Order: sequence, then structure tokens, then C-alpha cells
Amino acid sequence: MSKSISHIASLSALSLLVCHSASAQKHVHGEGQLLIAQQQQDWQFEFVLPAADMLGFEHAPETEQQKETLNLVVEKVEGVRDIIQLPESCQLTSMSHSLDDFKPGEQISTSNHSHSKEHEHAHDDEHKHGDSHDHDHNHGEHAHMDIIITYQFSCEVSPEQMEVTLLSWADTLSKLNTQWIINDGQGASVLQPSSNLVNFNQ
Ligand SMILES: [Zn+2]
Repeated sequence: MSKSISHIASLSALSLLVCHSASAQKHVHGEGQLLIAQQQQDWQFEFVLPAADMLGFEHAPETEQQKETLNLVVEKVEGVRDIIQLPESCQLTSMSHSLDDFKPGEQISTSNHSHSKEHEHAHDDEHKHGDSHDHDHNHGEHAHMDIIITYQFSCEVSPEQMEVTLLSWADTLSKLNTQWIINDGQGASVLQPSSNLVNFNQ
């Protein structure tokens, strides 16, 4: 009886946390978010990260280099250890990520920009009065994209800390706002490349 009550309580606490964060969160380059929730042995880790910091671009890859970058990042995300490291008592049970949205051929709802325009403008006559009036070049740049990564682990022994290894290679990601709700309580911490450990017993 008491077990199911605490289960429900932590579930609703999590959804409160997520709703609050989603509405409060802005898409800021250099800043990501990590939400951690425990339910008995199950631990969930959800990252929301600007694509600009993970890939260096926020659209489907257009060059060979961008395709390569996307593949490398997918490898890291699916390999898990380049994102987070947990003690051996924790086993990965499932994962999902939104990087497939960036694969060529997938419909990306936010962008519909055309590159031919830039070239057309290159041949335009100069404006007589030095007017540098911008046409609609910048429309596409308003489309921002986040990458969402979710891992679920089953932990026989609750971890006391975890390392967010992501921060050692995602160079431009300078802040990771981290919040957790676990059996021992809840907490928050701002991780940085120089301090990438979450201590659950702080
Ligand atoms: Zn962006």
C-alpha cells in the first residue's frame, strides 16, 4: 500500500518538475538541461541540449562534414559512456534520442530555407544609397532545435554519484542545469566542464 502511494507521489513530482522546467526553459546556446528521476530500481536520465552545442548546426546536415559529425554524435549517444558514466551496479535498460530527426530525408518541420537566394543576391545591383536593407536571409536562422536524449537504467545499488562525460567533449556546452528527484530527496546542481559530477548525497 505505502509503496504504491510513494510511487504515485514521485511520479507526479516528476511531472511537475518536467512541466515547470519545460515552461521556464529557453533555448540558450551553451546551456543544456538534465532531469534525473528514480523510481525504486529504475533511474531515468533525460537531456535537453541545443543542437548547436552537440552538432554545431541546427538543421539536417548539408555537407559531408556535417553528416560525419552527426554520425559521430549518434555513436557517442548510443555508446552511452561518452555521455554519462554510472557505477557497474547500474545497467542500461533502454534509450531514445531525437538525432534521427536530423537525418537527411527526414522531414524537419522547423526549416524550409533555400540556398539559391544567397547566390541570386550576389548578382544584385548595388543599392544606390548604400542601403544595406536585409531581405529575408535571416528567416531560417530563427529555427532552433534541441536534441533530447533519454536513458533508463536499472540500479541494484543506488549510485552516489555519476559523471556527465558529455561535458568533456561538447566544447561549447558551458552549463548543464541538472535536477533530480530520487528516493532520498531532490536536488539541483549546475554542472560545467570543470565540474561534471552529480553527487546525489550532497
Ligand atoms: Zn539554437
